[in-house]
Amino acid sequence: MPSHKRKALPISVSGVTKTYGPVNALDNVSLSVKSGEFLTLLGPSGSGKTTLLMVLAGFTRPDCGSLKFGEEEVIRMPPHLRGLGMTFQSYALFPHMTVAGNVGYPLRLRKVAKAEIARRVDEALETVQLGGYGDRQIDQLSGGQKQRVALARSIVFEPRILLMDEPLSALDKKLRDQMQIELRHLHEKLGMTTVYVTHDQREALTMSDRIAVVNKGRIMQLATPRDLYERPANRFVADFIGDSTFLPVQRDGAAVTYLGMPLKMADAPPTTAELTLMIRPERITVSPDGPRENANNFTATATEVVYQGDSYLLHARLESGTEIAVRGGVRGGTLSALPAVGDKVTLTLAPEDTVLIDGSEV
Ligand code: ADP
Ligand code: MG
Repeated sequence: MPSHKRKALPISVSGVTKTYGPVNALDNVSLSVKSGEFLTLLGPSGSGKTTLLMVLAGFTRPDCGSLKFGEEEVIRMPPHLRGLGMTFQSYALFPHMTVAGNVGYPLRLRKVAKAEIARRVDEALETVQLGGYGDRQIDQLSGGQKQRVALARSIVFEPRILLMDEPLSALDKKLRDQMQIELRHLHEKLGMTTVYVTHDQREALTMSDRIAVVNKGRIMQLATPRDLYERPANRFVADFIGDSTFLPVQRDGAAVTYLGMPLKMADAPPTTAELTLMIRPERITVSPDGPRENANNFTATATEVVYQGDSYLLHARLESGTEIAVRGGVRGGTLSALPAVGDKVTLTLAPEDTVLIDGSEV
């Protein structure tokens, strides 16, 4: 295990509230980040992600609540004593300094000896694949390179915790995709506890060990990418991550029914007052030979068939009038067997893909 890994610290937030006038930026937030974990705060704009990160960093003092790094209560500790690395969307680099000058800045603040600074700056630049760039001026760099310099600066003093607020959102898509993988590798290598903020669900799914979905200052769900996608706790999470069709269902004794049809399910439904059936486009399939036993079958009319190269997307209207999306593979002639617009089709959903979630709006 690299030496850094032993230095990672767990974070524990409990009961943190922050109000700005009538706005509950954070509403009684509790969450634990494991030592060495890559945890992402994911939510729409204005949901409270930055506020929570600023509380972790110490730039925002919450109205109440506790914050621990390891065993130590740090809620009153000033930012510069918290030993955090940070990067933001705006790189906040010093334009009049060289790359090495920028990266070495946190070490100069900490009064590290000159030779040691030079050594660690070189090492940090190597880590972000900018070896040999130390003497360049900041304005000679591309956007991606600037972001790497900012990253090198945030890791140069080997922080036990790294905070990142939408660090890639200013980059174009191709570079962003590449940097996501690089950041992930960097985290695996250095192993510090990382809290990452994004509003981009795909970015969150790509990078994170776990994701906390944030809405209106509250944590809607904290889970692995896979659990969030496959077992969202509520409609907000299901809607925010991935595409889905939602169908209203009723409880009928021990059964759950859709338009009078009892649903076959692999798991017991949640115990919430309201229930909704969530159907992901890639989980429901067109059944060419009609209804299948041991599955849930829906009759629909095809309204649009879209060929997308690696897959196809079928839009259909259920008998209830609800539009549903179905995604399928194009291998093995599946596409040629696809219906034409206006055709009646049977859609099947296996019991293990029949996922019921809390239907109440959040
Ligand atoms: P996010 O980062 O998820 O977009 P923020 O944490 O920046 O959201 O903001 C959460 C809410 O708190 C928003 O409604 C925002 O307008 C409000 N807010 C954040 N900072 C301040 C501030 N300094 N003064 C007043 N309102 C603020
Ligand atoms: Mg923000």
